[in-house]
Amino acid sequence: MLWSGWGDPAKARELPQQIRALLHDLLGVREPAAPAVSFESVRLAPVALPPARLAALAEVVGHEHVLTSRAARIGHTRGKSTPDLLRMRAGDGSDAPDAVVLPGSHDEVAALLRLCAAERIAVVPFGGGTSVVGGLAAARSGFAGVVALDLARLDRLVSVDAESMVVTVEPGLRAPEAERLLERHGLTLGHFPQSFEYATLGGFAAARSSGQASAGYGRFDDMVVGLTVATPSGDLSLGRAPKSAAGPDLRQLLLGSEGVFGVITALRLRVRRVPERRVYEGWRFGSFQEGAAALRVLAQEGPLPTVLRLSDETETMIGLARPDAIGGGDSGCLVIAGYEGPAAGPPETSAEGRRAGAGAVLARMGGVPLGTEPGQAWEHGRFAAPYLRDSLLAVGATVETVETAGFWSALPRLYDAVRLALLGALESPLVMCHVSHVYETGASLYFTVVTAQKGDPVEQWERAKEAVSAAIVAAGGTISHHHGVGRDHREAYAAELGPVGVDILRAVKSRLDPAGILNPGILIP
Ligand SMILES: Cc1cc2nc3c(=O)[nH]c(=O)nc-3n(C[C@H](O)[C@H](O)[C@H](O)COP(=O)(O)OP(=O)(O)OC[C@H]3O[C@@H](n4cnc5c(N)ncnc54)[C@H](O)[C@@H]3O)c2cc1C
Repeated sequence: MLWSGWGDPAKARELPQQIRALLHDLLGVREPAAPAVSFESVRLAPVALPPARLAALAEVVGHEHVLTSRAARIGHTRGKSTPDLLRMRAGDGSDAPDAVVLPGSHDEVAALLRLCAAERIAVVPFGGGTSVVGGLAAARSGFAGVVALDLARLDRLVSVDAESMVVTVEPGLRAPEAERLLERHGLTLGHFPQSFEYATLGGFAAARSSGQASAGYGRFDDMVVGLTVATPSGDLSLGRAPKSAAGPDLRQLLLGSEGVFGVITALRLRVRRVPERRVYEGWRFGSFQEGAAALRVLAQEGPLPTVLRLSDETETMIGLARPDAIGGGDSGCLVIAGYEGPAAGPPETSAEGRRAGAGAVLARMGGVPLGTEPGQAWEHGRFAAPYLRDSLLAVGATVETVETAGFWSALPRLYDAVRLALLGALESPLVMCHVSHVYETGASLYFTVVTAQKGDPVEQWERAKEAVSAAIVAAGGTISHHHGVGRDHREAYAAELGPVGVDILRAVKSRLDPAGILNPGILIP
């Protein structure tokens, strides 16, 4: 992973000429606020933990699994939001952990937590490091130091229960490797967020992730049937049956808890069979409103595609649903509908049967079929957009995303509120939106905003973010559909929960983590 950007540097791309012209003429993008610094110029504070404390950590995990090198510390600094990247490009390593610790078992995680609680060392559980909400930038004040607890060594597929369609995995398993291991058993999770290449299964659970095929496979929290968690106060093992009436479901307290209550050390996950057939196609609607109405009918009456995504007029025009062919967009609003499943069989389950059924609904609602070419282009470029962000930052454009969700009846107001907030807070930005996660009762809205960097680009974005968060709260949306809370959404989350809700979180925190070492400053106001 590139320390100051996204992913594999070999996959970095040049911006197409059309986009450069658009950035210059429409948005006034001239040049970056400041060129990116070299790796050697990143400013790091000296390691705050004295040798005796580092030695105590090494006693638990072995010397080779306690890292204090520049590369390790910089590689575990913050996550991958645009402000995170801008800070790294500016050489700001102030949130770097003092050490990176790599435990090799649940027992080692538990022992580390006990040790860190006794020594007042803050602990940041670290999966793929792809958080975009400041979920890895723990507060260090009041602590002897900060360690990143990297789960990379806990990366096994532990067991497969093919009869129940349940697998047990370790949290540090990255998504592509998980799919490779499961494929050998003819199984898949079907979880493909845009951060797929780097994010881990533990991170998906800790941040309640949602993938591009959520219409067919569900959100990640739908897949979690059981969890093992190490906390400073002891272990929790949750989920002994598919459903239970034995009181409140404590799994839900841990899902989305972003490492503040404990470290997830094992997950039991529902899996599906690898689909025999996959087909993705495009449809055009006259407007975002018409397209959204069609998605609502599919979500409420079926048949539901596996992938369902609607771009608004601006996103369709730019061609963002097809990052490989960006700039070659079209008019109207593009829908990508994908069908995965058995090649033959009853129309309610087979890929082609559902395609025919959903196609009839889309046509009845005013959609015009565009064939499989847009669907294939989407599939081909589905993980490419984050690389585009690096190219945009390099030429002086800030690009960032904002996401929320609401009930169908509230969606038009939410859409307008977010757009207006962004347009008001930034100087002539490009604001694009898509719907890519639908439910019977509502949907998510995912906005991408591009603007010329003016002054300090981090401050510029933070002002816009404040305005847009207030607009989301006022318009009745949730502050996050799938990115989570982290540091960035903490205040808005508190507004969503109310004071009693916040007190419940604090009470749980003080029971499980009385010394407050786990991810201080994250999630809980
Ligand atoms: C380019 C890009 C695209 C993205 N696209 C999507 C998308 O399509 N859908 C989506 O849902 N999200 C997306 N994200 C956000 C991010 O990938 C998700 O939040 C993901 O779930 C994080 O996984 P991770 O393994 O990287 O976790 P990390 O970023 O390492 O950690 C996330 C949070 O969980 C905590 N944590 C991690 N592992 C554990 C554990 N084992 N136990 C307890 N706490 C833990 C961390 O302390 C942190 O607070 C995207 C991010 C980027 C940068």
